Amino acid sequence: MTSQIKRIVVIGAGIMGASLAYHLARKGANVTVVDAEDIASGVTSRSFAWINTSPSESDPIAQLRGAAIEAYHQLETELPGLTVRWAGALSYSEMSSVASTGESSAPVADRLSRSQILDLEPNLRHPPESASYAPAEGALDPVAATHAFIAGAEAHGAKVLTRTPALGLAFQRAKVSGVETERGIIDADIVVVAAGTGIKKLTDRLEVSLPIEASPALLIRYKTQPNLVRTLISSPAMEVRQTADGVLLAAEDYLDDAVENQPKAIALRTAKAIQNELHGVTSIEPEWVGVGLRPMPADGIPIIGYLPKVAGVYVCAVHPGITLAALVGRLASEEIINGEISSALGPCRPDRFFPR
Ligand SMILES: Cc1cc2nc3c(=O)[nH]c(=O)nc-3n(C[C@H](O)[C@H](O)[C@H](O)COP(=O)(O)OP(=O)(O)OC[C@H]3O[C@@H](n4cnc5c(N)ncnc54)[C@H](O)[C@@H]3O)c2cc1C
Repeated sequence: MTSQIKRIVVIGAGIMGASLAYHLARKGANVTVVDAEDIASGVTSRSFAWINTSPSESDPIAQLRGAAIEAYHQLETELPGLTVRWAGALSYSEMSSVASTGESSAPVADRLSRSQILDLEPNLRHPPESASYAPAEGALDPVAATHAFIAGAEAHGAKVLTRTPALGLAFQRAKVSGVETERGIIDADIVVVAAGTGIKKLTDRLEVSLPIEASPALLIRYKTQPNLVRTLISSPAMEVRQTADGVLLAAEDYLDDAVENQPKAIALRTAKAIQNELHGVTSIEPEWVGVGLRPMPADGIPIIGYLPKVAGVYVCAVHPGITLAALVGRLASEEIINGEISSALGPCRPDRFFPR
């Protein structure tokens, strides 16, 4: 640990900025968090929030996914408000009914037969012949989790300024010296940019432009009967889970802006699909539906680390951000405060976009 206390401004109070702020403050940094709006007001509030650690084939972030669950378990012992519902996740594709192996064979997942699937999810009307089940996976309330991180950061002395957009960064001799806001410049030795889809605008201004798309997806909340779904189900027909208070959550792809694909129309279509997939759905009413804009790097791999060309600016643009928030917060804080370079973050470095 370095002896000098670092002044760090974290831009963004979504789950990523909040986790970073907590881990940095816990390590003794003097942390200020600024958010243009409120805590968890960005895409975090519209997340399905599955801690999905099953890597796809040759996944460059397999090592990060592999350590993501343990990072949350560790935090559950440290942060009183952070709770994860570890109910497991059942996944199958169209191939599952004809093939018994070969699809999504993540080491964290077991392969279940139809009767085992029905033991887990007795309300499934069309259980496949086989499915993959990741018993260790879970999901959380992303807004509550973000508040828990922020409360933890504040308990370690962090200051949180909401409704405070970062307008730009200030520099002295090519090194960052602060964050410009309407309240003036907040001095900083290091600035952590965790502003979700807002990262692009801030880095464009530094002429270190990062290819981050705002990638839309839909979250739908339904009022329906409790206990329809026990685990999290991801299938071709639906991606659903039920919260402890009975709300059924569904995630859907955003298609386009055609009338038939407006969020409300998709919510109604998805309700029919859910009724077709599950026994016992006597009523299902969309309570809320919204589009969230995910910060999606052009190559699909998170962007985590110091920017090239400008000193002292650390960026965190992460998808899947809920899955990785706990772990990335810890690893990034170890890099920033202790200078411990994480090999797991190796594939995520921003300089891959700036070949020399
Ligand atoms: C429908 C849907 C389902 C999803 N499902 C999953 C899932 O199952 N599992 C998973 O891991 N991920 C999932 N995601 C993705 C996940 O939600 C995101 O990766 C994650 O929430 C990103 O968090 P963030 O903190 O980086 O961004 P945000 O939550 O957007 O936070 C960024 C914050 O920065 C602030 N900001 C922006 N610009 C500025 C500025 N100039 N100054 C100050 N503040 C600024 C914003 O106000 C915002 O509060 C899903 C997303 C959607 C939409």
